[in-house]
Amino acid sequence: MMRSDLLSYAGSYEEPHFLESCTLCSKPLGHNSDIYMYRGNTPFCSQECRQEQIECDEAKERRWKIASSKKTKSTETTKKSTTVQTGTLVASN
Ligand SMILES: [Zn+2]
Repeated sequence: MMRSDLLSYAGSYEEPHFLESCTLCSKPLGHNSDIYMYRGNTPFCSQECRQEQIECDEAKERRWKIASSKKTKSTETTKKSTTVQTGTLVASN
């Protein structure tokens, strides 16, 4: 569900270049050349380019999940301790 939401956003954002060139190496995609699609709307000139993008995306998603779960936790902790410190400061002044 989340993934398809992101997809439609990215798709509308990249629409002007849709099918014009390879997403990875920017090689122009002609009507007679093979186009390898990925995630429905991302074109590549070859299976190699597409595979590289898939691997890159998977690595990014994995890092994102780890980073975002860590980030949320540490942000909450920082917020809480900042609030406590500010409150103490205000009270003592
Ligand atoms: Zn390419």
